[in-house]
Amino acid sequence: MVCGTTDRRVLSFTRLLEGERVTVCGSHKTAHHRSEIIARTVDELIAITGERRKAG
Ligand SMILES: [Zn+2]
Repeated sequence: MVCGTTDRRVLSFTRLLEGERVTVCGSHKTAHHRSEIIARTVDELIAITGERRKAG
């Protein structure tokens, strides 16, 4: 789990480079897509989305 949120209504999925589905919230999903980088691991996903925290 990337976010720590347990609210299923805001949960979504994003994919790692090898196609693994990871549960994230909508904000993290958007941040991942906007980064234009496809994370290879969950740790990398967290790093990428953490650096790009600006919302909207
Ligand atoms: Zn999140």
